[in-house]
Amino acid sequence: MKPIYEPKGKAKEYGDLAINLYTGCPHRCFYCFGPAVLHRDKEEFHSHVESRMGIVEAVKMQLHSEQITGKLIHLCFTCDPYPKGYDTFATREIIEALKNSGNHVQILTKNDGSRDFDLLDKDDWYGVTFTGADHRQEPGAIIGWSRGRLSDGAASGFWLRQRNWGSVPGYPASR
Ligand code: SF4
Repeated sequence: MKPIYEPKGKAKEYGDLAINLYTGCPHRCFYCFGPAVLHRDKEEFHSHVESRMGIVEAVKMQLHSEQITGKLIHLCFTCDPYPKGYDTFATREIIEALKNSGNHVQILTKNDGSRDFDLLDKDDWYGVTFTGADHRQEPGAIIGWSRGRLSDGAASGFWLRQRNWGSVPGYPASR
């Protein structure tokens, strides 16, 4: 498995490279393209969420074998790097591996990723998605207005993207 891939088409503007860390996402946004992109059953995608098998080791191996450094790596397109209510330690391990190899991360979440702010520096980006959607339309995510508050402690730049982030999971070919 080579989990680090180059986004294609419009998704490329979001980072040099990207990684999709989890098998699904519990946030259940009504506009989610994840199941369609991954050819997964929608209910299965939202209810069966875990880190992809061997993802941490695979990322470390690929970083080493391909000497990937100095890149901006986006987390994630077909999932959220902080799936609410699930074990997200793999995210921390992967951020550490990316930073230790001289790369930068660009995180986009609808949950709270503040636990990992200590790993970030001025060249990393932490983004929260504001869609303006009613919480019933994103029932598994934290409430929209509180996402901005949770980003206040970010050591990195605070990166705010507007509504069109809701369609981003549909852009890249997943790996
Ligand atoms: S946070 Fe992203 S991946 Fe998760 S359900 Fe919403 S749109 Fe899909």
